[in-house]
Amino acid sequence: MPIDATLAYDESNIFARILRGEVPCSKVYEDDHVLAFNDINPIAPTHVLVIPKGAYVSWDDFSGRASEAEIAAFVRAIGLIAREAGAVEPGYRLLANVGTHGGQEVPHLHVHLFAGRPLGPMLAR
Ligand code: 5GP
Repeated sequence: MPIDATLAYDESNIFARILRGEVPCSKVYEDDHVLAFNDINPIAPTHVLVIPKGAYVSWDDFSGRASEAEIAAFVRAIGLIAREAGAVEPGYRLLANVGTHGGQEVPHLHVHLFAGRPLGPMLAR
């Protein structure tokens, strides 16, 4: 069920629980500001979720409130993870679902990194 991205941060969401170590994940990358792990239900050979460690509901929340250091770390980590996955050539896709129309299901900002096969059209028509 997609979430309303304008709601207050919910500390019990599944990614908050992963960040607290209460739920395991298949970790791909970690630094002071960022955690990345494999999606539990992958839809491409590479399907990594990259999340900030801070409590941000969505891209809207993060882009409005995060520090310059958090934003820089997040952007650089996504690029690094893609490079380390060998995805730059032949290419990859980044996706951040926001709110109800975006189809966001987990209310903690995450960017999907898809790679490993031709990914098809950007959106269903
Ligand atoms: P959204 O639709 O919010 O953009 O994507 C949420 C993503 O989180 C989905 O692709 C889903 O498979 C993934 N996901 C949900 N619960 C878990 C979990 O407990 N662990 C991991 N690794 N991924 C999860």
